[in-house]
Amino acid sequence: MESHTHHHHDEDMLSVEQAKQRVLANFGVLDAEIVPVTQAIGQVLSNDIFSPLDIPPLNNSAMDGYAVISGDTDGAGADNPVFLDVLETIAAGSLPKVKIGPGKASRIMTGAPIPPGADAVVPFELTTEMLIATVKEDDSIGILTEVSEGNDIRIAGRDVGRGDKVLDKGSIIKPSTVGLLAALGLSEVSVIRRPVVAILATGDELLEPGADYVEGKIYDSNTNTLVASVESVGGIPLPLGVAPDNAGELRSKLQQAVDSDLIITSAGVSKGDYDLVKDVLEEHGNLEFWSVRMRPAKPLAFGHLDFDKRSDSIPLLGLPGNPVSTFVAFEQFGRPAIRLMMGKAAGERPIVKATLADSIHNYDGRRVYARVRVWKDQDRGVYCAETTGSQESNILTALAYANGLGICPEDITTLGPGDEIEVVMLDWPEEIL
Ligand code: AMP
Ligand code: MG
Repeated sequence: MESHTHHHHDEDMLSVEQAKQRVLANFGVLDAEIVPVTQAIGQVLSNDIFSPLDIPPLNNSAMDGYAVISGDTDGAGADNPVFLDVLETIAAGSLPKVKIGPGKASRIMTGAPIPPGADAVVPFELTTEMLIATVKEDDSIGILTEVSEGNDIRIAGRDVGRGDKVLDKGSIIKPSTVGLLAALGLSEVSVIRRPVVAILATGDELLEPGADYVEGKIYDSNTNTLVASVESVGGIPLPLGVAPDNAGELRSKLQQAVDSDLIITSAGVSKGDYDLVKDVLEEHGNLEFWSVRMRPAKPLAFGHLDFDKRSDSIPLLGLPGNPVSTFVAFEQFGRPAIRLMMGKAAGERPIVKATLADSIHNYDGRRVYARVRVWKDQDRGVYCAETTGSQESNILTALAYANGLGICPEDITTLGPGDEIEVVMLDWPEEIL
């Protein structure tokens, strides 16, 4: 009987790719919002950005030095200074007051506008600036080199021209982009909004962290895992806490998800479960229960919940309850769904090929995502990977110690020491590079 049931199950099982495709078909890009530029990190531009101005706005000096007429420096050298009369000092942020005529120069700071008449800058180091205590207006300065036209001048509009398209719709905002937007004078930007992701843990056994320990209970770790994971993808987590295995409380917790874009629950999706999650969720929408050919995280629920207050329904991702299963299933299904809503490609984390130091076993033809730690063997110039502990789906320490998920494919029963393994990198700690 057991083997028959098992066999039947196998045929019903979805590959990871099939399950992912079915889930992701339900997600599209959310609408745009206008946010302060510095809050938009990781969000996607909803329009092209055109520059309202030239950057730099004016020709300006690349050095602290003297603005001169290049022709006046002809024949100048270390032993043959050409002396020019100093007209003024031009600071960054101020405008020149006087035109440079033949035999004249103005002292100029980096970033200050080039005065009319000048066509080059001579840096202090190539003048007698350093040899004299102070240079006052009406003093003269010795130029110790010839310079050609344009020397140390930054040309207006060289970086960005007024009206130029600077960033494309669909670009992801990152720290350097934030700087660029500020340079254009923008304080706000229109980006695809972040999805609100309601997170609900279910189970009578769960205690909220911070509560006094009660015999027979365990602390809810999945909520924290999911809050942090949602945030790391750029979503806005809305933790709803713990719903006990009781239909009334489960329903009322779910009502708090009414304004969310996605609901993620954990636990209560495995076959033969005592939990009420299935029943309650099914009452309020449609829900399918799948088996996915992966380990951990075989059981998965996906559907939509309807709320009286809303015309559309909200997608619901029901993850298995074991903490490592929750994490791995979020990686496969939650993370790309959030990315799609944010206007990004579903995306894949970087994969490295590593040499396995120990062994990974595959008992039943599923794709194993093993918790591994990757490091770089500096002598051989290769990545190595080692499992971080027991691979059962309740062992959270092995997950915490891992920086990647090592894949043992469906059709391979064992990977051993020395075998090559592909590892999906969860973090990319700089010390392993
Ligand atoms: P279930 O899917 O309800 O059968 O749960 C599977 C396993 O995951 C059980 O051992 C649960 O106690 C555990 N579990 C469920 N929810 C959580 C949670 N939020 N935090 C930690 N463990 C959990
Ligand atoms: Mg349960």
